[in-house]
Amino acid sequence: MTRNSKKTPNSKGHFGQYGGRYVPETLMPALIELEKAYKKYNRDKGFLDELNLLRKDFIGRPTPLYFARNLSRHTAGAKIYLKREDLCHTGAHKINNAIAQALLALRMGKKRIIAETGAGQHGVATATGAALAGLECEIYMGSEDIRRQSLNVFRMRLLGATVTEVTTGSKTLKDAINEALRDWTTNVQNTHYVMGTVFGPHPYPLMVRDFQSVIGREARQQILKAEKRLPDCLIACVGGGSNSIGLFHAFLRDNVKMIGVEAGGHGIKSGKHAARFAGGSLGIFQGCKSYLLQNRDGNVLGTHSVSAGLDYASVGPEHCYLKDINKIQYTYATDTEALRAFELLSRTEGIIPALESAHGIAEGVKVASTMSKNSIIIINLSGRGDKDVQEVARIKGIKL
Ligand SMILES: *Cc1c(COP(=O)(O)O)cnc(C)c1O
Repeated sequence: MTRNSKKTPNSKGHFGQYGGRYVPETLMPALIELEKAYKKYNRDKGFLDELNLLRKDFIGRPTPLYFARNLSRHTAGAKIYLKREDLCHTGAHKINNAIAQALLALRMGKKRIIAETGAGQHGVATATGAALAGLECEIYMGSEDIRRQSLNVFRMRLLGATVTEVTTGSKTLKDAINEALRDWTTNVQNTHYVMGTVFGPHPYPLMVRDFQSVIGREARQQILKAEKRLPDCLIACVGGGSNSIGLFHAFLRDNVKMIGVEAGGHGIKSGKHAARFAGGSLGIFQGCKSYLLQNRDGNVLGTHSVSAGLDYASVGPEHCYLKDINKIQYTYATDTEALRAFELLSRTEGIIPALESAHGIAEGVKVASTMSKNSIIIINLSGRGDKDVQEVARIKGIKL
């Protein structure tokens, strides 16, 4: 419904000066094939009907829009609503995109899907999509991450995926991405590469945004039903940027304030963070022009966040564009603030949030406290925190 007036991205995949398709020649045919298939099936009734049915019966959509009465009272400001993506099957919004891409791969006649994963969340979502669609699945993961995330590795294997260890470079996410891209270049005939967020070369930022924008379409209807009006403010955490754009997209033509929250880690001055807008500059990374944490020579910097899902050196190109046109504001929450919000939501509402989502809660509480009691904000609760309890215990020095 906002497509025509915005016209972003353009036909080359650019959002203003951002985005595009900066890839080696060998990957171009695969991206063009994917773009064509996406354009076709995104209008195909059979595809959309099947996707909608799975959204309902498999993912559990629509997810509730929950009025957090206790948190609102605690904050003594605006009414705070939570969009409950933590209640999606597998515990986060990532499944919205993974299921849709698995279905698309099937329609494209592919036999196999591949992905890379850092903390394992996207790997688990992709393996789930593959099991559902009856596709082979291979997940690339750095050996350092395999060691740290052994439970998710076992999950993926239970779901029937092959988890392939990447032992090159820093043995983490970016090395796994290189390996997955090498696989795709070699096996493009029968393989689809599942991108986990609104990043990478065109058409991924567009396609993943469209698959995630179900979040905001639901939230918009739900708040109109509950409050008979639009909210004053929307807040979501920003890793690659898919849960946030997923919430914001249906509201882009409305007069609603929107805030994206990046990982402030130990603070911007420390250099140990993943706040691309606060500390980054324009660069090209993994097929896409965007804000990037890099040094003067253009080498990509190491990042840090207490939450693995926000710990990434670049950010989806559409976010850069929406920042430039002042449609969305960006800020960050530090590790300490996120950990405090993690405990606050657990105690006040009986909901343990993902550490990623806790960054949104931290900002939401700050903003709500400055607003009047009849103001309304919606915070996207992108995932549940079960995956994080062990890490939080470790940080607090508690032996389990
Ligand atoms: C992966 C993840 C994120 C960050 O990714 P986006 O693409 O920015 O949404 C946020 N929350 C949770 C729970 C995640 O798993």
